[in-house]
Amino acid sequence: MPATLFTLAEGIRACTACPLHKSRTLAVPGDGPANAKLFFVGEAPGNEEDRQGKPFVGRSGKFLDQLLQKAGIKRSDVFITGAVKCHPAKNRTPSASELNTCRHLWLENQIFLIQPALVVILGTAALRSLLQKEKLQPLHGKIIEKNGQKYFITYHPAAGMRFPKIRKMMEDDFGKLKKTLEKL
Ligand code: SF4
Repeated sequence: MPATLFTLAEGIRACTACPLHKSRTLAVPGDGPANAKLFFVGEAPGNEEDRQGKPFVGRSGKFLDQLLQKAGIKRSDVFITGAVKCHPAKNRTPSASELNTCRHLWLENQIFLIQPALVVILGTAALRSLLQKEKLQPLHGKIIEKNGQKYFITYHPAAGMRFPKIRKMMEDDFGKLKKTLEKL
């Protein structure tokens, strides 16, 4: 990682700006190339991510890997992070204030440094944080532009794992994502 992304990652590991720092083992800054065209944003680190300090390495991560592979997108080509970087106790949903604090301090700066062609929103927490919208269903598979940045919206892999209907929609969305990527 270049010095600037590296500096952000160091800052994230030491951050105590919201209550989530109390429930983390290791903060999870995110992972991927500095020139990634796709920048994925999930919700928050789960137990395995918290233990390893890496994004999407648990069950949801394996499912995300399958979706990427099926769509012909290499995981090593994309940047992956969360809307918050610290594990919430009992996997609770991050609060609006935690989402806002982490976005202002870290997520927006990561996006600014990487300047991805598309930010891929995985699930409601990322949607709430980045686009201040609540309802994902009508927006999945679509691109929204805000302040010059394009966002592609889909479900969180944890939902796709649990519900076959959502799995199918995610597979279709990732197919669209691949086609969009080819035109970028
Ligand atoms: S979740 Fe984000 S803002 Fe909160 S302590 Fe962790 S890095 Fe800092």
